[in-house]
Amino acid sequence: MIEVIVNRPSFEYDIHSLVKAFFPREDVSVRVQEAFTEETKLRISLHFTDDKIYIALLEQGEEKQSGSDEICYGDRKETKDRMKRLLYRILQAYTGQSLPWGTLTGIRPTRLAMLMLEEGMSNVEAAQNMREKYFASKEKAVLSVMIANRERYVLRDIDYQHGYSLYVGIPFCPSTCLYCSFTSYPLSKWEKRMDEYMDALCKELDYLARRFRKKKLNTVYIGGGTPTTLSPERMDRLLAKIQGSFDTSYLQEFTVEAGRPDSITREKLQVLLDHHIDRISINPQTMNDETLKVIGRHHTVQQVKDAFHLAREMGFHHINMDLIVGLPGEGYEDVAHTMEEIRALDPDSVTVHSLAIKRAARLNLFKEKYEEMGMENNMQIMDLTARCCAEMGLSPYYLYRQKNMAGNFENVGYAKVDKAGIYNILIMEEKQTILAAGAGAMTKFVSPGRPGDFGGVKIERVENVKDVGQYISRIDEMIERKERFFTEHMGPESADAV
Ligand code: SF4
Repeated sequence: MIEVIVNRPSFEYDIHSLVKAFFPREDVSVRVQEAFTEETKLRISLHFTDDKIYIALLEQGEEKQSGSDEICYGDRKETKDRMKRLLYRILQAYTGQSLPWGTLTGIRPTRLAMLMLEEGMSNVEAAQNMREKYFASKEKAVLSVMIANRERYVLRDIDYQHGYSLYVGIPFCPSTCLYCSFTSYPLSKWEKRMDEYMDALCKELDYLARRFRKKKLNTVYIGGGTPTTLSPERMDRLLAKIQGSFDTSYLQEFTVEAGRPDSITREKLQVLLDHHIDRISINPQTMNDETLKVIGRHHTVQQVKDAFHLAREMGFHHINMDLIVGLPGEGYEDVAHTMEEIRALDPDSVTVHSLAIKRAARLNLFKEKYEEMGMENNMQIMDLTARCCAEMGLSPYYLYRQKNMAGNFENVGYAKVDKAGIYNILIMEEKQTILAAGAGAMTKFVSPGRPGDFGGVKIERVENVKDVGQYISRIDEMIERKERFFTEHMGPESADAV
């Protein structure tokens, strides 16, 4: 345990995230109080005055590092940046370690680079700023500017103000993966109530289509869960509902996350093609059978290959594959093997995730057991995945980070030219409203912000209940909740104010 005390309520969340980034295995407690109260080996105190900040790090009561900086306490953003730089320098000196992303602990570092470019900075200036202001490593600074440029290009025709995207959640899976923290329920348990779920979902989609009829639908993403747990008939019903209720004249992308290969059949893929959808994701996570067993995915590497070849033969021109590095028991050689197998399949895009241990996941409950097997991620592994993707003609197009990620790295999406997923960028950059339907789905409403709001926008969220039974029985309440929100933000539906 590391005890951190702050004399005024100031940036506790940021302080916690930065200390935790240096000490990922330690519990960190940050409290607003004047004196230390815990018997911990390591203690850090932050003391703010109106024009200065002092930070001291103590080990067994003895001061090991300290420093101070000028601040203007009223300027929150600048004070936060200065505090983080000072705290970073102290932790860096104490541990002898540098973090690849420097003081950046948020999940969307490319948004900063994007903002800098939008403000008129050159690529070199933006990269320099990432290094000097946030202490990002040279590689990460260059990577974020490179991605920001590609994102700007991919989003060039997206109308942020009059356009929107749609997410549809199918929260069922064939089995539950060890690391899962999504809204996911076992198919076997819910099969009997699937039609009731579809009825509720279609009702919500009807409402959203009506409410946003004057806006332009730019992208649709059906995710989950595993959307291909739907039978061919139910999948057909869902796609017909979306394509029949929403105006698709402005649609630039329609993705169905097939996900688990054990849920993919020729009949289901044919239904997608009949609806002119050829953008899918087939996610192996690893191409090692042993690891697939450990992480609770009841399918084999051969099933991944079969599903991929089937989809290609049938005419799918955009197949994405998701991978995870840092899985229990996997080291450099295992990841190298996975990358070789992926190379042989030649997908159009690949997303490499760094394993994140989420609180709600089974993995977290039995963390010690899996840590014994080794959960390794390091710069060599990240470099290996980047190099293999480059050799496959895939270059980075979106990036995000999560809390508690193995090695404090990031998730990176790589794609061939013109194969970047627009929806993936939109969800990360938070520039456009994304309506969400289904159990556990969260609508993100983007509107012009007040001066000082990050990126010049305000983001508000409207969440649906996670529990499938509750979603079915309370669907009218979910819709009413959305309607109250939209009335407040866009005027009443009857006024045609959308
Ligand atoms: S496939 Fe995805 S949503 Fe389903 S259990 Fe695994 S991690 Fe969770």
